[in-house]
Amino acid sequence: MADTWDCVVVGGGAAGLSAALVLGRARRRTLVVDDGDQSNSPASGIGGLLGHDGRPPAELYEMGRRELAAYPSVEVGTGTVFGGQRTDDEFVLELGGGHAVRTRRVLLAIGMQYRPPEVRGLAELWGRSVFHCPFCHGWEVRDQPLAVLGDGDRAVHQALLLRNWSDDIVVLTDGPAAFTDDDRARLGAAGVTIDERPVAELASENGELAAVVFGDGQRLPRRGLLVATTLHQRSSLADDLGAARGDATPLAADPIDVDAFMRTTAVGVFAAGDVSAAMPQVASAIAAGSLAATAVVQSLSAEDYGLVAPEWRSHVNA
Ligand SMILES: Cc1cc2nc3c(=O)[nH]c(=O)nc-3n(C[C@H](O)[C@H](O)[C@H](O)COP(=O)(O)OP(=O)(O)OC[C@H]3O[C@@H](n4cnc5c(N)ncnc54)[C@H](O)[C@@H]3O)c2cc1C
Repeated sequence: MADTWDCVVVGGGAAGLSAALVLGRARRRTLVVDDGDQSNSPASGIGGLLGHDGRPPAELYEMGRRELAAYPSVEVGTGTVFGGQRTDDEFVLELGGGHAVRTRRVLLAIGMQYRPPEVRGLAELWGRSVFHCPFCHGWEVRDQPLAVLGDGDRAVHQALLLRNWSDDIVVLTDGPAAFTDDDRARLGAAGVTIDERPVAELASENGELAAVVFGDGQRLPRRGLLVATTLHQRSSLADDLGAARGDATPLAADPIDVDAFMRTTAVGVFAAGDVSAAMPQVASAIAAGSLAATAVVQSLSAEDYGLVAPEWRSHVNA
């Protein structure tokens, strides 16, 4: 095992690369380990990122890696962190093949697994005309016939939100709807219709959504579909390191619990980006990574130089 790193950043998406930039500029020895599966990779462009609106995600990550090359204390490696544990005042992270690295701090920027509903034909359209976030992809399908696949409160919320982009919206409940009279009234008032027929598959043309196909074979032409999607931890890495999960949100089933400085409940372990976010977006991930990195530097400086830094929370797994 080589020398101890100041910080290993696990994950090289928006949050991890942003964190590494700040760590590198603070001259901290930083290793980024990334296995290259950023959640927005299927999307053709990043919607709503200032300065990069519409840029293909892979291009942004490549630009980020190029910027990091200017900072000699930062190394970016391709690989997977399979597990980790605390040993005294350090961490040992397992990289597979018998390799491991030692580090004083860990920053988890590992993203989340997005789970959309299982519908035939959805995977091919995911991140383009089938999407989980209207702020990311609504603009591209504005003024088109759109649909929301879902039921209950969340579907009402999504349909009324989607009204910002189109006045032709159908909620597909894929069976008998669970709406209250009030839900139906609000949807109706906004001009949103409800279709309860069971959904069989999504039909595409030239790689974009063309129609929703029902169980009876009938088709509803649509150009965009918003689907209720939930984010889940991709692995047990955070658990291994003792970082507790926070409360579920409507979007995230099991986000990592962090404080205002992106510190988890495990001393020395930080988390940023989708893995601990309430609002999964590239801009938020970049901001969170940046903030986490400043907190990492402060926590190392407290140890090295006596900097006064905020105490770690009391309910921690030291
Ligand atoms: C299809 C889709 C389209 C989207 N479109 C937009 C959009 O247009 N605009 C917008 O603002 N947001 C969009 N989002 C949301 C946005 O992509 C995320 O909020 C953002 O990318 C989160 O960044 P992150 O760094 O936290 O995670 P990610 O970008 O997912 O990066 C995490 C990285 O960590 C790696 N990793 C995970 N575990 C390990 C491990 N154990 N070892 C090593 N590496 C590991 C992964 O392989 C990945 O490279 C979209 C999301 C999806 C799913």
